[in-house]
Amino acid sequence: SSDLPLGEKVGTSWPMLGSSIEPSAPIPEHDQSNILPPTTETGTDKRPLVLEARGNHIRLADGRDILDACGGAAVACIGHGVEEVVDAMVAQAAKVSYVAWGFFDNPSRRELSRWLSQSSGGHFTKSYVTCSGSEAIEGAMKLAHEYFVWKGEPQRINYISRAESYHGITLAALSLGGHLIRRAPFEPLLVTNVHRIPACNSYRQRLPGEIDEDFVLRKAAELDKAFIEIGPDTVAAFVAEPVVGAASGCIPSVPGYFKAIKAVCDKHGALLVLDEVMCGMGRTGTLHAWEQEGVLPDIQAVGKGLAGGYQPVSAILVSKKIVDMMESKQASFTHGHTYQDHPVGCAAAMKVQQIIQSNDLLANVRTQGQYLEHLLRSKLRSHPNVGDIRGRGLFWGTEFVRDKETKKPFDPKLQISHRLHERALRPPYNMALYYGQGCAGQSRGDHVMIMPAYNVTRDVIETIVDKFTAVVHEVFDGLA
Ligand code: PLP
Repeated sequence: SSDLPLGEKVGTSWPMLGSSIEPSAPIPEHDQSNILPPTTETGTDKRPLVLEARGNHIRLADGRDILDACGGAAVACIGHGVEEVVDAMVAQAAKVSYVAWGFFDNPSRRELSRWLSQSSGGHFTKSYVTCSGSEAIEGAMKLAHEYFVWKGEPQRINYISRAESYHGITLAALSLGGHLIRRAPFEPLLVTNVHRIPACNSYRQRLPGEIDEDFVLRKAAELDKAFIEIGPDTVAAFVAEPVVGAASGCIPSVPGYFKAIKAVCDKHGALLVLDEVMCGMGRTGTLHAWEQEGVLPDIQAVGKGLAGGYQPVSAILVSKKIVDMMESKQASFTHGHTYQDHPVGCAAAMKVQQIIQSNDLLANVRTQGQYLEHLLRSKLRSHPNVGDIRGRGLFWGTEFVRDKETKKPFDPKLQISHRLHERALRPPYNMALYYGQGCAGQSRGDHVMIMPAYNVTRDVIETIVDKFTAVVHEVFDGLA
């Protein structure tokens, strides 16, 4: 009848399509029949069911405890199940779980935005809180162009990015990135105003005897040439990851690279957009990876470590230069997502960042990062198939090659990095590693990434490297 309370009315008419939603029938552990398999470079392996995750441990349905050596894709930066974060999320959800950002503001978003600005010493005066790294990058691309619309240079519609990079999975972000495997089926749909220059990969590209300064000059000249070919006054931004993540496995640039690159951008009046979705928010030992490069980006994207996986949160950080232009034209950014500035997401991010600060976890990232580097080098450098070990902070990649002399990679069909991941995940190792195949389809070596939580201890670092070393020996001995 019409005077029933709303809940009961809904209850009587739902579910509409007939089948019962009683949670009575447990779903068998390996039943993934209703799930559209997400992207995988490795086929349709059965993904183990996770029942619980605490600290750096992931408990599986089969009773095993997995040591999380990578935080997913460098996401779980303070480990799993931290009660303070869960409490902050619950408290926020109980107060306000959602309001439309277009009509209302919410205190948790104000608090997070103020902190993001303070965290850059005031360089970023405003931020825009989104949900995923891809959204942040797409927003950054749009903002870069709209800045030039406000400035009276609407012809700046081109972007320059780098090969061996990954900037996200949505169409424009995918167009920026050089992840050939993920791009392949969609090449005809990708935006065409993106031009990619070679990466800054010291292991693969440095000429015999070439010193840092010469290498940097050569890289800056590549960018300058791209500007000139495209038409310098048509380029909105150069976009790059300060330390390249998923596409090639923790590759830092050589000293001086970003300073030289920024000078080229300035010369041609284009913006520098840094993608710190993976390497940012403390992962490399400073809150922002650019702090170690001596440059300030005009726009920056952050994600993963911002809320440590407790909520899907990312952000576009916007420098004063962009904001001043926008305000001088009384303009606003023509953009918006339903779930941006989400109160629970902002509360989770703020609590994760407070925990990092109050426990001085970035100091631990630097200390344990040095120890991780030392152990990786001392235990694996001499292995005949380890080509390169590189990284920064708690962001370390190992690249595997068939031939150390020639740096020839393995045949991608062998799926070396996937084998390493698979072997690590099974007993007796029970450890999660992040892996990538053959530099995302560009005939580079396979790589494996180790990216533990910022509060990792020395003991756990030792366990991770011991297990990893044993896995490497086992997998390559098995190939022989
Ligand atoms: N940018 C970088 C550097 C990334 O590593 C990623 C994800 O791995 C993205 C962007 C896209 O982020 P998301 O997967 O949250 O959309």
